[in-house]
Amino acid sequence: MSQMLDVAIIGYGPAGATLANLLGQYGLSVLVLEREAEIYPLPRAIHFDGEVMRVFETAGLRREVEAISRPGLKGMYFNNAAGETLLIRAGTSERGPHGCANNHYFHQPELEAVLRAGLQRYPQVQVRTRHEVTAIEDGQDFATLQVKDLDSGKVQAMQARYVVGCDGARSMVRKAIGTAMIDLGLHQPWLVFDVRLKADVPDLPDHTVQHCDPARPMTYCNVTGNRRRWEIMLMPGDDPEQLVKPETLWRLVSKWVTPEQADIERAVIYTFHSVIAETWRKGRLLLAGDAAHQTPPFLGQGMCAAIRDASNLAWKLDAVLRGRAQDALLDSYASERAPHVHAFIDLAVKLGDIIQTTDPQAARERDAKFKTGQPEIFQFPAPRLGPGVWQGDAAVVAQVFPQPMRSDGRLLDTVLGLNFAVIGDEAVLNAVSEDTRERWQDQGVVQLPARDPEVQAWLQQQGVRAVLLRPDRYIAGVAQTGHELDRISALLPTTAALAH
Ligand SMILES: Cc1cc2nc3c(=O)[nH]c(=O)nc-3n(C[C@H](O)[C@H](O)[C@H](O)COP(=O)(O)OP(=O)(O)OC[C@H]3O[C@@H](n4cnc5c(N)ncnc54)[C@H](O)[C@@H]3O)c2cc1C
Repeated sequence: MSQMLDVAIIGYGPAGATLANLLGQYGLSVLVLEREAEIYPLPRAIHFDGEVMRVFETAGLRREVEAISRPGLKGMYFNNAAGETLLIRAGTSERGPHGCANNHYFHQPELEAVLRAGLQRYPQVQVRTRHEVTAIEDGQDFATLQVKDLDSGKVQAMQARYVVGCDGARSMVRKAIGTAMIDLGLHQPWLVFDVRLKADVPDLPDHTVQHCDPARPMTYCNVTGNRRRWEIMLMPGDDPEQLVKPETLWRLVSKWVTPEQADIERAVIYTFHSVIAETWRKGRLLLAGDAAHQTPPFLGQGMCAAIRDASNLAWKLDAVLRGRAQDALLDSYASERAPHVHAFIDLAVKLGDIIQTTDPQAARERDAKFKTGQPEIFQFPAPRLGPGVWQGDAAVVAQVFPQPMRSDGRLLDTVLGLNFAVIGDEAVLNAVSEDTRERWQDQGVVQLPARDPEVQAWLQQQGVRAVLLRPDRYIAGVAQTGHELDRISALLPTTAALAH
C-alpha cells in the first residue's frame, strides 16, 4: 500500500479496533498494523461500563456486543475473612444514565472478535496482521512507518497523515514520542486464575466478591457463561512458580470450587501498574489505550479508558483531516483525557490500598468502617474532562450527557449520529444569531427541540435551557439564552477554539 493514509493505527487490541471502527464510520482511510496473527486468546478484561457500551453503540455494534456480554446488575460485595458481608457496592438497573446497564461482563477475546468483524463494513479500513512497525519518522506533512511483514521478512515504508499508537504497555510509539511515564504509586503482583465450570455450582455467587482477608486478599468474579475468575494477591514468601501449579491453584480456591467442578483456563501472575504517559502527542504521533496509561484492574477500567480515548480522538481526527479544524484541536485530546483517566487510576489505587490490606489491625479497623457503611469511597468517579473543547462552570459541562429514551421509544443517540447537537427549549434554539445558524448548518449540527419528557426533566434538573453536545456525547456547554448558545457554538470545530 503506497497511498497516503489518513490514519495508521499501530496495534489491534481493543483500543486500535475501536478507533478503527469509529474512523471507519467517518469514511477515513485507515490501516491497522498488528504484529500477532490472531487475537490474544487469554482472558484479560472482564468488565466495562455503560459509557463504553454507548461508544460501541455509536460504532454501530451494540447488538453484537450485547450478544457476547451480560449486564452486571448485582453490585460488588465486600466480605471479611469469615465470609461475612460487610458492605455492598450497589448494582445498577437495566437502563442507567447511558441507556443501558452501567456494568457489563465479557470475555475480552470475544469482544475483540466483534470489533474486528465490525471493520468488514468499511472497505477503506484495511488491516494487516503479522505486520510489525519497526520504526517511525515524523515529518512536516506526514509520518513514515517502516513496516515488516513477519511472514516474508520484507520491510515496506508507509505514509500516514497521523499515526495512533494503540500498541499496548510496551508501546514503541511512546518511545518514538520520547515521553516518560508518571508513576501513580501502585505496583503489586496478583495471580489471575480463570476457570470454566463443568456444570452449575449453585454456591458461587452471580455478583463480584472482594474477599478482604488480610491473610490473602482475593477477588471473585462471575464473567460470562461458565467462566469464573479469581484474582489472588501474592503474599510475602510466595513462590510464583509454585503458585501457578494446579495443586496450589485448587487449594487457594478450595472454599468455593474443586477440580471436579471446573477446568483451568489459565493462571498468570501479573504485576498491576498505575502509570500515565506525560506526553500523549508529538507532531503527527498520538498514543491511546495501554500505551498511554495503565491502571490496576480494581475498578475494571483499563480497557474502558482505552475506549474513551478512541471516542475522544475519532471526531477530532476527522475534523482535522477534513480541514474543518486546525491541527491544534488534537492537543485537546491529551489535555482532556489525561486528567480524566488520572482520576480513575487514583481511585483504583485507593481501592487497591483498601483491598490489599494485610496488617490484621488495619484490616479490623477497615472492616469496622465497612460495617458502618462508607460506600462513598467506592462511588464510581465522574471526573470532568481536562481543559479542551468545552466552556463554562456548570458541574455538568465536560461530563457525558445521559442517553434518555425518547417518546418514540428510541434512545437519544440514535438521532445524533456522529454529529454535534444542540438540544433545548425551542425558544432558546430559535433565538440564536444568524451566524450561529449558519455555523450549525455548515457543521451539520443536529438541532433537537426538547420535547421528550426525559430530556425536559434533565434540563429542568440542571436548571439550564439548552445544551451543546459533541460527537463523543460530552457536554461542550450549557445555555440559558440564545446569546449564550451563540457563545458556546463558537466552540464548533470551524474555529477549533480551545477553552481556557
Ligand atoms: C488481568 C487483567 C484484568 C483486566 N481487567 C480489566 C477489566 O475488567 N476492565 C477493563 O476495562 N480493563 C481490564 N484490563 C485491562 C485491559 O485488558 C487493557 O487495558 C486492554 O487490553 C488495553 O488495550 P490496548 O488496545 O490499549 O492494548 P493491547 O490489548 O495490549 O493491544 C496492543 C496490541 O499492539 C500490538 N503491537 C505492539 N507493538 C506493535 C508493533 N510495533 N507493531 C505492530 N503491532 C504491535 C500488540 O501485539 C497488541 O496486539 C485487565 C488487564 C489484565 C491484564
